Order: sequence, then C-alpha cells, then structure tokens
Amino acid sequence: MPTDQEIVICGLDGVLALIEHRLHHLYNEEGVRHWEQFHAACDDDMPNLPLIERLNRARAEGVAVLLLSGRSQAVAGQTRQWLARWQIGYDALFLRPPGNFTPSAEFKAGVIAQHYPGATIRRLYESDSHLDVATWATAQTIPCTLIGHNQGNGESREQFELKVVRHACEHTVLYPFYGDDDFAWGERAQQLGLGICRLCGAAEQREEQHKRSLQARHYARERGLPPLEGSERQVAWAETVRLGAFGAIDKVLQWVARVNEEAQREDPDYWQSVQQGITRSIGYLEEQTDAKWWIDHRHGMFNNLDSGRALLSAIAQERGYL
Ligand SMILES: [Zn+2]
Repeated sequence: MPTDQEIVICGLDGVLALIEHRLHHLYNEEGVRHWEQFHAACDDDMPNLPLIERLNRARAEGVAVLLLSGRSQAVAGQTRQWLARWQIGYDALFLRPPGNFTPSAEFKAGVIAQHYPGATIRRLYESDSHLDVATWATAQTIPCTLIGHNQGNGESREQFELKVVRHACEHTVLYPFYGDDDFAWGERAQQLGLGICRLCGAAEQREEQHKRSLQARHYARERGLPPLEGSERQVAWAETVRLGAFGAIDKVLQWVARVNEEAQREDPDYWQSVQQGITRSIGYLEEQTDAKWWIDHRHGMFNNLDSGRALLSAIAQERGYL
C-alpha cells in the first residue's frame, strides 16, 4: 500500500448495516446482553443504501474503502455473504478477533496503525452509539461522519433516505430514514436538529456528573466525613450516594429535635434506646470509607425523612444497636 493512499473507513453495525431489528438481543427485560445472538442475526440487516452510494463514489475516485467493525469474526462468513448479497464493494474487511475485548476506539486505531500506516483517512463513518470511536477520530482531526439511529418505521423497504441533520451544537449527523413513504420525515429531521448530538449529550452528562460529585465532595468536607476510597469513578458515584444518605440523616436529626420533648415525657427508656440507635448508626455510616460499600447499599438511599429513618433502623438492626 503506497503511503499516499487515501482511505475511507466505514463501520458495520449501526452504520452500513441497520440493526434495530436485533437490538432486543442486547437491551431486554432480563438485562442480559446476548452478544452471540445479536451478531448471528446480522443476516437480516437492511443495508444503508445511500451510504453505499457514497462509498461507491469514493472507490470510483480511487479511494480504498475499508470496512472496520467491532463485530465478531465468528460471523465473518455471514458478513461476507451479506456484503455480496447486497453487492457492496469494499477493499478490505476487518472484524474483531475472538477473545478481543479492547474498547472499539483502541481496536480500530490499532488496525489502522498496523495495516495503513501513513495513509490519509479521507473520512470515517461511525455510529453515534460508538462515541469512543467518534471522540478518538475528532481528537486525531479525522473527518468523522456520525450515523444516527434509523428514524423511519422500517416496515417496508420502499423509501430510503439519508437525511443530513445539523444539530443545535453545530455537529452534523446523518440519519437513515427508511420504511413507508412518510410525510413526517422532514418534520422529524427538523425536530432532531433542535437538540444537541449524542456526542455533545454525553459530554454534557459527564460534566453534570462531575459537578454533582464536586458538590458532594464539598458537602462531605463541610460535614467532616472521611474521604472515600476506590477508583475515581466509584468514588464519584459513591460520593453522591453518601450525599443523599446524609441529607436524609439530617432530616432524621431535625425530626428527633422536633419530637424530643414529647417522646422523652411519654417513654424515656424507649426514647433513649432509639436515640442511641440513631447515634451509633450514624457513627457506623460515617466510618464507611469504601466507595463500593455505598454503591452496593445505594438502593433506597433517598434524601427524605422516611428513607433516612429506614436506613438508620436497618443499620441499627443489622449491627445490633437496638
Ligand atoms: Zn454535537
């Protein structure tokens, strides 16, 4: 391969092949991802016809088209048959070797570095669900075109359009619309354009999480809680769980102050044991510095009086503080 070779890189799942019909193997009620079944069902994918036209145009200009996908090599035969059946031209096909679990971006960058060193990447077509690849390409200033989820009803294959949507963040994403001729497609494309793209959505979400965990850390310091231990992600997550728990505990303490006099009068012995249980449980929670402990116990830790009481009484019972 000459070093001045120009290449176009195109993904398969959610890019050249439309996969809505088999996503249920990954996202289902059981919450189990059946990757084997997901890959095996690739025979029935609808090809992204307008994208194939673009690839053909590039090939006609002498640009090599390489299909580079995180799809498993276990379905290499099926994949080649599918490409042949739809008469999709390409110059090379790379699939993920068995047992290779590296993140998509790392896998794809590795293949390019190994097989096409020095080549100029004219364009990379990637699914907007593979944000790590898109982020990597953007960082390398590789022109990257994102393919969004199919927006048509997919019921028939009569109409197929690749609509260019410029999102509010100025990023452009190509959305495949296929199915029955639908007068609402234009409207839907316009609606998509009002929002930001998924790449920016993910960045915004990360920033929001970061802000929340900074707030939680600030609160922990104010309250004199010890720093949490664990990976950066675990600590950030656990910090917000702990924030919720201690917010609820504060509400319990306010409640204690409110009912104290009356409870003292009614049954001093019982009230003393309740207060002791609360104090010892709070002490126990203050000592939990393992981020994983908070993540494991996150269910039901909401910032309100009822869950505060439920949390403290569960701890008191579990530890025998009553
Ligand atoms: Zn964007």
